[in-house]
Amino acid sequence: MAQQTETGTSTVPGPGTTGNRVSARIAAVSPSATLAVDAKAKALQAQGENVIGFGAGEPDFPTPEAIVAAAEAACREPRNHRYTPTAGLPELREAIAEKTRRDSGLEIAASQVLVTNGGKQAVANAFAALCDPGDEVLVPAPYWTTYPEVITLAGGVPVVVPTDASSGFRVTVDQLEAARTPRTKIVLFVSPSNPTGAVYPRAEIEAIGRWAAGLGLWVVTDEIYEHLVYGGAEQHSMPVVVPELADTCVVVNGVAKTYAMTGWRVGWMIGPTDVVSAATNLQSHETSNVANVSQRAALTAVSGDLSAVAMMREAFDRRRLTMHRLLNEIDGIECLLPEGAFYAFPSVSGLYGRNLRGRTCASSDELAELAIEEAKVAVVPGEAFGAPGYFRMSYALGDDDLVEGVSRLAELFGTA
Ligand code: PMP
Repeated sequence: MAQQTETGTSTVPGPGTTGNRVSARIAAVSPSATLAVDAKAKALQAQGENVIGFGAGEPDFPTPEAIVAAAEAACREPRNHRYTPTAGLPELREAIAEKTRRDSGLEIAASQVLVTNGGKQAVANAFAALCDPGDEVLVPAPYWTTYPEVITLAGGVPVVVPTDASSGFRVTVDQLEAARTPRTKIVLFVSPSNPTGAVYPRAEIEAIGRWAAGLGLWVVTDEIYEHLVYGGAEQHSMPVVVPELADTCVVVNGVAKTYAMTGWRVGWMIGPTDVVSAATNLQSHETSNVANVSQRAALTAVSGDLSAVAMMREAFDRRRLTMHRLLNEIDGIECLLPEGAFYAFPSVSGLYGRNLRGRTCASSDELAELAIEEAKVAVVPGEAFGAPGYFRMSYALGDDDLVEGVSRLAELFGTA
């Protein structure tokens, strides 16, 4: 064994001490910027600071009572104290298949469902099950910060396809085609989008789906915000719009956003049975079954009606309109009206070079730093989503806090 000095350096080299202490593969993983912003805001709050947090990607509502009651009851049942099948409780997989039929119209069997520790593990499992080394995945940007990391960990290569406000942050077939190479295996599709709030109309979903199906490309489609669309926007599931994708499509979903259950950690992936079996084998060695109490809670959630999300949608819709209006009143900020999820994605590059309390900023990273330091307002800079020049601001917070937070930004940026 190598000896450790007080500074941690090893004095006697031995096996395993000559290379990197942390593997290069894992050392290359960035921390989750969204979780980091949230952690910083919560740490400042713990010190007694009055921080307004636009960072977190979670509903501010409690989980509906009936779901909590089901979990309470589940705690008392010894069968839930044991290991259960990796792929999920059979009745939950059945209920997810039924809910999928009800909500998006996709006909699937329970055997096509793998219950995961949140949608996040479903995303990671999907890419792990599909990517061989060097396989390219088309990732439209702005993208949720986790996708490129898990694609890289899976041995795949994320190929970022940038979009901007001029197309409502929606990628086109032409842009995807321009980024395609003989190594392209998968297209990632997310609607409603985190971080932009973009929702694709049916015709655009159909165009992208048909293009992918025609080329034999896989589609991984993340539908976790399916119930959070506003105004005239409608959610459509790509494998329903383009049934030819049935055998080359993985759908990611979960209870986190629809039922205000981010902390319960239940999501799922739906796909062809060979891919679902492969992902189940992987999960059997990593995390086994999702906590049974959480699965029982999720069973009550997906078997019940959608009244709780209808109530949340009404509140988010109101906040979305307020957020959009107040942000656009700030000189130097421009914000599209988000159509889904619970994020606004304003452009802040108009503030670059301006004297802000004696400082000038040249990036959204610097502006976000200034916002937390000077105004105690937490936002996630666009750099985290492959889109410098923007902020992501969640509007899943109380109406008064929302107004207070944007007012503080207006004051900081000079137009209050
Ligand atoms: N997909 C998207 C687009 C998300 O925004 C999130 C949460 N931020 C997830 C998946 C994962 O959610 P969870 O793991 O909490 O179910």
